[in-house]
Amino acid sequence: MTEFAPSNLAAIDAAHHIHPFSDMHKLNASGTRFISRGEGVHIWDSTGKKYLDAFAGLWCVNVGYGRTSIAEAAFRQMQELPYYNSFFGTTTPPATLLAQKIASHTGGRLSHVFFTNSGSEATDTWFRMARVYWKAVGHPLKTMVIARTNGYHGSTVAGASLGGMKWMHEQGNLPIAGVQHIGQPYWYAEGGDLTPEAFGLKVAQELEAKILDLGAENVAAFVAEPIQGAGGVIVPPSTYWPEIRRITEKYNILLVADEVITGFGRLGSWFGHQHFGFEPDLAPIAKGLSSGYLPIGGVMISERVAKVLIEEVGDFHHGFTYSGHPAAAVAALENLRIIEEEGLVERVRDDVGPYLVQALASLRDHELVGETPSVGLMGAVQITADKATRRRFDKPDDIGTQVRNHCLDNGLILRATGDRMLFSPPLIISRSEIDQTVETLRHALDALRDSRTV
Ligand code: PMP
Repeated sequence: MTEFAPSNLAAIDAAHHIHPFSDMHKLNASGTRFISRGEGVHIWDSTGKKYLDAFAGLWCVNVGYGRTSIAEAAFRQMQELPYYNSFFGTTTPPATLLAQKIASHTGGRLSHVFFTNSGSEATDTWFRMARVYWKAVGHPLKTMVIARTNGYHGSTVAGASLGGMKWMHEQGNLPIAGVQHIGQPYWYAEGGDLTPEAFGLKVAQELEAKILDLGAENVAAFVAEPIQGAGGVIVPPSTYWPEIRRITEKYNILLVADEVITGFGRLGSWFGHQHFGFEPDLAPIAKGLSSGYLPIGGVMISERVAKVLIEEVGDFHHGFTYSGHPAAAVAALENLRIIEEEGLVERVRDDVGPYLVQALASLRDHELVGETPSVGLMGAVQITADKATRRRFDKPDDIGTQVRNHCLDNGLILRATGDRMLFSPPLIISRSEIDQTVETLRHALDALRDSRTV
């Protein structure tokens, strides 16, 4: 795309563009990298350097890059009807058909969908919806929402409040009133002498303690990602989700599963809650819904909540100009058709998912590797200073950044959250590409070890 690549692009970017989640002073000094092309699991930057993208963009390019059928579907839709809204008694056929398609992959249990443009908007949407629901069923005091330390639910005011990232709360006086946090099921860092199973129960029971503290009559919902993504691919111990579901049922609290990352095949199931065997009341989605080809998200809504919204609430005063955008909806429909037709969910469940588990586990003989949790194609490598005691290095962010940069120099993109290296490749990745990924990471870990011993 040479027409987009004048030689002084970096200078233009520095002069005019503020990037998300970026220290612009540092970035402008080092110069940004421009990504210009993608095909399959690979992307190329504007200098022609090729990378294996083991992070699927930002956990989202599930069907891989270069799917012309998605582009063509959007092109046709844009020619026929580029835009119309779903307000004032209208909608467009793609929005309706997409809602039906999404519901079909929940066995119809999450029967309805409210469309947004992003995961953050999906968070704001269910947040309001949960409160509206309780008011409509005669419990107007049920407004508090409980979330988790180190969870991530987006960057809007409600999203950043529900997220448990302290460094986000520090910017902009968050969290907003009505949001409380409990601990996370991060056994490696916080489990102490407990077994993972005992620790899973203990942190789940923090929810019960918090509900009792606030009064169940004041609590609307509990939200969590089936597997925490941005927090570091924190896979909860097996005891965690059953205990959470028991508690939310006992106290009549809505359970919200944030499926923005774990939806659409990432864990080898259509949705993460199916992998863990529980049924949420509300579930925000985005990312893999369109594999990032066009922005679209939504909230999947259970029969229980949908019935009240439809029969009791009247007008829900909430919506976005682009809710159910027809071009984004056809892109999502074509993306889901590809996932179905190519059997990508089953492929992740039966083939490349188990293969990634083994490939990452092969790194455990490395002296710097602690745990390697992985489900489907969502995995992590925990770097440790001492395997026996699970001690962490003093500056985990520097450690992760060093390993990530080494991988980048060697043509591999993965993400670092502190001292955890995260994998979330396109669902089409091959076994040999997984081998290549793990081999490059091993070299990066060797380089880290050597740099600390010289
Ligand atoms: N929820 C989760 C679990 C996420 O990982 C993200 C994005 N990484 C969001 C919500 C927010 O989505 P978006 O960036 O599309 O607003």
